[in-house]
Amino acid sequence: MLRLPSTLLLIAGIAFTGLVAATEPEESIELRGNPVQGGLLFGTAPAQTHVFWGGRPVRVTENGEFVLGMGRDNKGLMVLRFEGPDGEQRQRVVEIGKRDYDIQSISGISSKIMNPSEDDLQRIRRDSAYIGKARKVDSSRTDFLTAFDWPLYGPITGVFGSQRVYNGVPKRPHFGVDIAAPTGTAARAPAGGKVILAHDDMFYSGGTLMIDHGYGLSSSFLHLSRILVKEGDEVRRGQVVAEVGATGRVTGAHLDWRMNWYDQRIDPQLLVGPMPAPADEEQTNTGGMND
Ligand SMILES: [Zn+2]
Repeated sequence: MLRLPSTLLLIAGIAFTGLVAATEPEESIELRGNPVQGGLLFGTAPAQTHVFWGGRPVRVTENGEFVLGMGRDNKGLMVLRFEGPDGEQRQRVVEIGKRDYDIQSISGISSKIMNPSEDDLQRIRRDSAYIGKARKVDSSRTDFLTAFDWPLYGPITGVFGSQRVYNGVPKRPHFGVDIAAPTGTAARAPAGGKVILAHDDMFYSGGTLMIDHGYGLSSSFLHLSRILVKEGDEVRRGQVVAEVGATGRVTGAHLDWRMNWYDQRIDPQLLVGPMPAPADEEQTNTGGMND
């Protein structure tokens, strides 16, 4: 699994050189980050510039900073357009680097389909209404401008974008990064933010926490055994906000960390870089699976 980060950096490197030159002098517009599927681009433009990504207006701080995200399946060329306060237009064409996701085809298995009961279905609908409401938050917090840290260290047991295909039927892709850790392990806020959802027991994701980092960027922690903050709380980068668990539909204790830029799923691993090597070689298998 730890092969992946270096591959990603390579892809990102190629894609970045593929960034097509601006059509006008490009001083005072800066971009950094990985223009790859699941990646984020951070930018700075002169103050009061309007920014449009694929025609969609992007929120810009009063200092001209902005962030935009590329979903798992975004591809090809995207136009990043800038409109100055005097109406001056510029644009850059960004080539979104394609990634190879881990797709596992599993055939000949007996279909053990879980049939949620009517009660379960009601819960599932309620859960998605909560999540939908939290996703609508579009704040002007600027926590997204700071660096992001791993919420905890441990073996990575599931990666962004991977997908299983059972008997030819593709299942929903996995959007988080799974870090195996025993129940009760502290999980820290990867950056500062505000708690926009804290739910003890969702049907699929169990104990679920969502933190808004501002400008459309948010983190979610799934399968928690305990949540130590409540909705509306402000959290600091590095603050212990929850404990790892095995709640919801999982087979073992792990933290599933997901990130969104509005409705686009972002790969947290691209933001924090490779998982540091364990200080001691005690890599016991805690049974975390690709949930
Ligand atoms: Zn997961």
